[in-house]
Amino acid sequence: MSRASAYFGKERAVAIEAVECASRVCQAVFKRLVTEETLTKKDKSPVTVADFGAQAVVNLILEKHFPDDPVVGEEDSKDLQGEEGRVLREKVVDLVNTITEQPLSSDEILRLIDRGQYAGGPKGSHWTLDPIDGTKGFLRGEQFAVCLALIVDGKVRVGVLGCPNLPYELDKPDGERGVLMVAVEGQGAFQRRLHGGGRADEVLIHASKVADTRDATFCESVEAAHTSHGDSANIAKLLNITRPSVRMDSQCKYAAVARGDADIYLRLPQKAAYEEKIWDHAAGNIIIHESGGRVTDVNGNPLDFSIGRTLSANKGVIAANANIFDTVIDAVQTTLAGKF
Ligand code: AMP
Ligand code: MG
Repeated sequence: MSRASAYFGKERAVAIEAVECASRVCQAVFKRLVTEETLTKKDKSPVTVADFGAQAVVNLILEKHFPDDPVVGEEDSKDLQGEEGRVLREKVVDLVNTITEQPLSSDEILRLIDRGQYAGGPKGSHWTLDPIDGTKGFLRGEQFAVCLALIVDGKVRVGVLGCPNLPYELDKPDGERGVLMVAVEGQGAFQRRLHGGGRADEVLIHASKVADTRDATFCESVEAAHTSHGDSANIAKLLNITRPSVRMDSQCKYAAVARGDADIYLRLPQKAAYEEKIWDHAAGNIIIHESGGRVTDVNGNPLDFSIGRTLSANKGVIAANANIFDTVIDAVQTTLAGKF
């Protein structure tokens, strides 16, 4: 590994700071801009403003502490450029400047957003960022996540998920919300409160120990375009699962498996040509591994983060606790019958 220290203490702390800050940006936008009217008109502009704002803020913090690290981020500044992008750009600039110590110019903010254009690949260090994963969940006031991970020499070494709407305890769905999950390679996975938690608040988390799939719960995307609900129903039948699937947006599904709220996460390709994006899976991947769970694609191959911006060597994603993982993959293979 080319990175000087394999302990990643500074990387962990900075990634947490960046995710907390970006989560605040998203929550502020939700409070101010997501209204009944937005929802009925299906106006997505609030989530767009929050997406750009969150990417600018994370990249600002990463640049301050790790100026040489490139970033693979979901967004670029194209839609904010020129006269056409003026209205949106002004909203993003206003938003970012509510949280920075010194006001930043709009050019500076666009430059920060475009720090996310790195191509990725097998050598050296880079970060990968999804400023708002689960945009539909965000607009509905349901699950979304700010996702940041560090990849060194093609492997995920640090992952942080900010989940502002995730209940802190599964059995208290109306109780406290806001969870941060963090994992560093070889150091376990932890949960803490998203805001103000601090290191003393961290609790080690584990995937479930369920050993019979009859007792298992699985989760999947809300959006039928992102996963085949039909295939997952057939897989569930083969596994004798009787509990209804838990549908939620974003990498909160990884969080649910990592702390044992659910036992399985199925993401089954809708189109063979779709390539999963590294920012949609990197943080969740290490959090599952460090919680004692397993993750592969639908063919049982590890997710390969070394290729570039997409997981072009993989199809779909399966995560589960280690006890039932092989059984789940067998059922996936039987159901998909070599389609991918
Ligand atoms: P989820 O909230 O788990 O449904 O996933 C949200 C992510 O799905 C977004 O960040 C997109 O990058 C990604 N996505 C978009 N189109 C597809 C697709 N056809 N198949 C799988 N994932 C997709
Ligand atoms: Mg995403």
